[in-house]
Amino acid sequence: MQAVIFPGDKKVEIQQVDIPTPGQGEVLIQLKASAICRSDMSLYYGTSVFGDGNKKASIIPGHEPAGVITEVGDGVTTYKAGDRVAVYLALGCGECAHCKSGYKMFCKDFKCIGFDSHGGDADYMVAPAENCMRLPDDMNFVTAAVSTDAVGTLYHAQKRLNISGRDTLVMFGLGPMGNAGVMIAKGLGATVIAVDMLDERLEMAKELGADYTINGKEANVLEEIARITNGQGADAAIDCSGSPYAENDALSCVRPHGRVAFIGESKETTIKPSEQLIRKQITVMGSWYFPIHEYDEIADFIVKKNLPVEKLVTHTFPLTEAETAFRLFDERKTEKAVFIWE
Ligand SMILES: [Zn+2]
Ligand SMILES: [Zn+2]
Repeated sequence: MQAVIFPGDKKVEIQQVDIPTPGQGEVLIQLKASAICRSDMSLYYGTSVFGDGNKKASIIPGHEPAGVITEVGDGVTTYKAGDRVAVYLALGCGECAHCKSGYKMFCKDFKCIGFDSHGGDADYMVAPAENCMRLPDDMNFVTAAVSTDAVGTLYHAQKRLNISGRDTLVMFGLGPMGNAGVMIAKGLGATVIAVDMLDERLEMAKELGADYTINGKEANVLEEIARITNGQGADAAIDCSGSPYAENDALSCVRPHGRVAFIGESKETTIKPSEQLIRKQITVMGSWYFPIHEYDEIADFIVKKNLPVEKLVTHTFPLTEAETAFRLFDERKTEKAVFIWE
């Protein structure tokens, strides 16, 4: 089978390797869709903090995969050949309280598919059966792949923020994550204000149902939000950009008792706790990923609300064009890009 390997320095190799054999508790999946993610770029550059030293150069990337099970290993009773699945990216010890609660990413042995073990940028992959997430019959594989990360993460964050039709929610940073957030908020009935610096992304947000868009390069974001909310402030805000400016705007734009989630990865930000948090008594949370058992609910929501998840995908590629795919993605000439198999 063909598989992508990153030798480092933005090199992409397509290697011919043996189809893997599923071991105890594992399944073999024939890939149908595998989405490229910003976090793959550390492997592409060769600067990943995951994996161990030299090993990471030989790991097949792809942590947002979906496909069809073709073979099951010993002890697998929950799945059979022919089942359509997406794969949950977090691997844990399986024994600790976090693993048992479905939040495998909090396990002290947390490892990530596509970083520490082979991922979905290949014709086949092996995954633990317990990481498989069954797909509804009417969900296509591209939607399934994208739902394992962007859509699932934003669904989980909005569930925790308790977003509903009563809320005006501001989404900061409209890459695939932020625009997935716009789509979900509309599905939940919220009024959405979408903020970004790029007109194309604002256009996409509008297409996905955003009620208001603000280009942060052209307008005073806080003044605009105050105007739209009649001076009350937004009920909730989510930052997907990781930019210190947007993080501060998210804290500043919400009303007293407002709710804020930070999702965009960010190392350091200076905030004003008295003004932004204390005197408004707001709730701020970090949100990273969803627990595996929530996937059925996420998939059901996507199908029931007919969310146009495929609109987040601006480019699809066959695996043979992996070099072009990663180059265009890295140069930000694509939004979500997905490998597909006919
Ligand atoms: Zn990802
Ligand atoms: Zn664990």
